[in-house]
Amino acid sequence: MHDITVTAVEAPMTRKAGEHAIVLGAGVSGLLAARVLTDFYERVSLVERDPLGGGEPRRGVPQGFHAHALLPRGLQVMEELFPGVTAEMVAAGAVPYEMIVQLRMIMGGYEFAKMPTGESGVSATRPFLESHLLRRVRRLDNVELLDRSQVTGVMTGDGRVVGATVAGDGGERELPADLVVDAMGRGGRALAWLEAMGFDRPEEETVKVGVAYATWYLRLPERALGEDRMILVGSYPGQPKGAALCAVEGDRWLVTLGGSAGMRPPTDPEGFYAWLDEAAPADVAAAVRAAEPLGEIGAARIPTSVRRRYERLARFPEGLLVTGDAICNFNPIYGQGMAVGALEALTMRDSLRGGVDDLARRYFAAVARVLDPAWQLSTGADLALREAKEARPLRVRALNAYVRRLQRVAARDPRVAVAFSRVSGLLDPPSALMRPGVVWRAVRG
Ligand SMILES: Cc1cc2nc3c(=O)[nH]c(=O)nc-3n(C[C@H](O)[C@H](O)[C@H](O)COP(=O)(O)OP(=O)(O)OC[C@H]3O[C@@H](n4cnc5c(N)ncnc54)[C@H](O)[C@@H]3O)c2cc1C
Repeated sequence: MHDITVTAVEAPMTRKAGEHAIVLGAGVSGLLAARVLTDFYERVSLVERDPLGGGEPRRGVPQGFHAHALLPRGLQVMEELFPGVTAEMVAAGAVPYEMIVQLRMIMGGYEFAKMPTGESGVSATRPFLESHLLRRVRRLDNVELLDRSQVTGVMTGDGRVVGATVAGDGGERELPADLVVDAMGRGGRALAWLEAMGFDRPEEETVKVGVAYATWYLRLPERALGEDRMILVGSYPGQPKGAALCAVEGDRWLVTLGGSAGMRPPTDPEGFYAWLDEAAPADVAAAVRAAEPLGEIGAARIPTSVRRRYERLARFPEGLLVTGDAICNFNPIYGQGMAVGALEALTMRDSLRGGVDDLARRYFAAVARVLDPAWQLSTGADLALREAKEARPLRVRALNAYVRRLQRVAARDPRVAVAFSRVSGLLDPPSALMRPGVVWRAVRG
């Protein structure tokens, strides 16, 4: 087993921004936002409608059944906010892997060359990951966790948000607060609250992705896939069938088939095997056929990606922020959601370090800078998968042609493979692929 890098511990903040902050929704973004807010508020309440703590898939996060690859930058941020959490997860059974030696990437139909990068990742199911973040949040002495509690609305006064209303076993109650954060995922309620308060709704950019998933948990014969701990098979124009195979806790493999552009993966075993025969390398398809199934195949559909442009609003009420999927949800095949939620938590921390004056404007402007590269990467690739050429602007077509070339070269040139994996892991900005060294290799290759 290789070493896991532990990032330096941040000195705790002492400045207090207020008495009470409330985070609505205890998904990955909500848990990380709550952690950040404990440095600035005397008390933080985290409200969640599901019962929490089981480490099992839950109703409010149905996507938790499917592959949830945590991009390397997301793991770095989680380690920064909860020092030692990576080692805790590995000790509890999460599978560490070395990039891109134990991560096998097959992108654009090309299997990337392998080379150590010095970066590590961990592979685990989403409920496992979330349960470890939750454990760390529970240890913070100024956090109150209100699970089995449905958020019903916000309290307002003088044009600002002054708290939230929550319904639990004891009926509905008011929770006054200095700051309320909507972390309720795709169904976030901030849009409706803005309208009700007389503010404009943010512009929305929607990209049709037409993605469907089918997921099966399996037990593979030992070393059936050699050193590989995670295998990603990307879809590309002309081949809308992709797959992700992840070694996860409990000595299991989680295999998710991803269909793009309206293609729906089968949920019967024979169809599942046949998909992998077509889309994955032969040894991968054979290993899955030889594996022991652990339960039924589950399905999901994701019709669109949506980005809400809060940073473009001229007016926004004080006392309210939004984070995670409630601002922007991505095509999940690129595995960006949790890492972006983590980066938004850091953005919230940095914005609060500048005080609470004009907080929402500064925060949403900084969030937009976090979202730009991730949105550019995923929507650019989504547009490449669309049949209609005219649906893609010239700039996007040129970029996609360059990316296709890089993928082809990455099959033989490990340095290009590393550059590509660092950008898709959000460790480097997309502009890193335009550095002279990479461009030269692409042209020569
Ligand atoms: C099929 C699928 C696969 C994905 N795969 C990946 C992947 O590989 N890698 C990756 O990084 N991301 C992936 N994502 C995205 C990822 O799930 C999210 O980006 C990530 O969970 C962050 O979301 P969030 O915390 O903002 O919201 P969520 O995870 O959706 O959490 C929202 C929380 O709010 C709670 N809530 C909602 N309404 C209320 C209410 N009224 N009252 C109280 N509580 C409420 C919910 O119960 C839930 O706990 C995938 C998404 C999908 C759909």
